[in-house]
Amino acid sequence: MRENKKKIVIVGGGIAGLAAGIYGKMADYDVEIYEKNPIPGGQCMGWNRKGCHIDNCIHWLTGTKKGTSLRKVWETVGALEEDTKFAQCESFYTSVAGDVQITLWKDLERTKSELLSLSPEDEVEIKKFIEHVKYAAECEMPAEKPMDAMGIIDYIHMGASMANMPKVMKEYGAIDLLDMAGRFKHPALKALFTDYLPSGYVASSFLVSYASIISGNGEIPMGGSLAMVERMVKRFQQLGGKLYCNAPVMRILIKDGKATGIEKADKERVLADYVISSVDTMEMFRNLIGKKYMDAKWMSCYSDSEKYPLFSSVQAAFAVDQGAYDGKGTIFFDCLPFETGGKKVERMSVKSYEYEPTFAPRGKIVLQVNVQQFDKEYLYWKGLTREEYECRKKEAVKAIEERLLTQFPKLQGHLEFLDCWTPVTYERYCNAYHGAYMGFITKKGVKSFRVKGTIKGVKNLYIASQWIMAPGGLPVAVTAGKFAVWRIARKDKRKIKD
Ligand SMILES: Cc1cc2nc3c(=O)[nH]c(=O)nc-3n(C[C@H](O)[C@H](O)[C@H](O)COP(=O)(O)OP(=O)(O)OC[C@H]3O[C@@H](n4cnc5c(N)ncnc54)[C@H](O)[C@@H]3O)c2cc1C
Repeated sequence: MRENKKKIVIVGGGIAGLAAGIYGKMADYDVEIYEKNPIPGGQCMGWNRKGCHIDNCIHWLTGTKKGTSLRKVWETVGALEEDTKFAQCESFYTSVAGDVQITLWKDLERTKSELLSLSPEDEVEIKKFIEHVKYAAECEMPAEKPMDAMGIIDYIHMGASMANMPKVMKEYGAIDLLDMAGRFKHPALKALFTDYLPSGYVASSFLVSYASIISGNGEIPMGGSLAMVERMVKRFQQLGGKLYCNAPVMRILIKDGKATGIEKADKERVLADYVISSVDTMEMFRNLIGKKYMDAKWMSCYSDSEKYPLFSSVQAAFAVDQGAYDGKGTIFFDCLPFETGGKKVERMSVKSYEYEPTFAPRGKIVLQVNVQQFDKEYLYWKGLTREEYECRKKEAVKAIEERLLTQFPKLQGHLEFLDCWTPVTYERYCNAYHGAYMGFITKKGVKSFRVKGTIKGVKNLYIASQWIMAPGGLPVAVTAGKFAVWRIARKDKRKIKD
């Protein structure tokens, strides 16, 4: 034990902030986390309504496969345990197009045979897709140390675990999902490949996502998002970390080019040797340190939403009587056009949580509908008065409910509205820029966004956030937390746990 321990203050108690806190404690620092909300978790969140639980994050958690370095990180931060149970989900999702229903199963051979029997004329593209999903499934996200700190041995190891990624990138790294869909002749397959992620996403991202499902590296831990956060909080506190909730931070204190602490909304100042900013990065630049610290790389992304779009959504949750719902998993379907966030919606998705009995009273399940929204729609919602906002939300719920009943007529009389939320909800709750809950979308022909997580001109300030590497998400958040502490520990000549 060192005397006069060095202190790290972390702003934001999302997954990245909690991970940074845990790694900071393990490297023998005093660590305090300041979170603006009453509970930590940030975007990895769930809440209760009318006796049901709405889980608003984990659709899949990359890094669940035992033996991978990311799984080690999830175990170190207490998110997963040796014997964590995962939801028994059979599929990634299902697309309905006209009379045809097609599913991307967890069982890749089943997917292959069903796609081939649906559309023999797409045989070449189907086989190519399946083959490349298998390649992607063999690849593993490095999680030991930041890429820029990797040496030759690390690259050799990474090369072995990423051996087949170049094949995936060669075939799918320069096209987007719309191009990929265009390679298929059958309309249901065209729909299938543009349903899950925004169609401007580079196609390789989609293959990597599906690959994690088929390889068992993208499971859903039982208990969902909130339970996972609670396990991380427990780990942090058991290690002696201090977590302050309802504690919004107004400013990161910078003196002579060095971060020296924070100033909270109640004007209290907390001094520290290091500050880790774990909030949305625009919140950090705009409010905590000032935009003068935003370098050209960040600026070019934030100022060009065509090249670097962000997405959010309008969502609505319902409780339904189990016997009245005949869907399973996530289902995309065409619907009668309606408008929400100023955008015409003709296709929507519904996810059912039948795999998690604790989310609803016996005999019921929770359904959640998701309608994609982008920067433009965020601005629409943001521009409304309070009354207009409430009114547009009610209209959205009504439109969604009607379309659910059209698609699943047996639900008539068995549907109870629980909650509805929009891009501005994410802004209010997490200070999320444009309501985005993932990082910048990587489009074809655009370099995928990645930064170190340090700020030019400010020493002792580190960023731990999903925003430091596209496409963001939980694995980026947790490793960003680890890597911020890795950099601090290296500076202090300490070692951190893998
Ligand atoms: C609907 C939905 C589905 C998702 N599905 C998946 C999925 O299946 N798989 C996946 O990998 N990812 C998924 N994600 C993304 C995932 O939730 C995020 O990538 C991740 O939680 C981001 O973590 P973070 O710690 O970087 O940021 P955040 O969660 O945004 O944490 C930042 C924290 O800082 C706090 N804060 C902000 N400003 C201040 C301030 N001034 N002072 C103090 N505190 C402040 C916020 O309240 C928040 O708690 C999903 C997200 C959503 C919303």
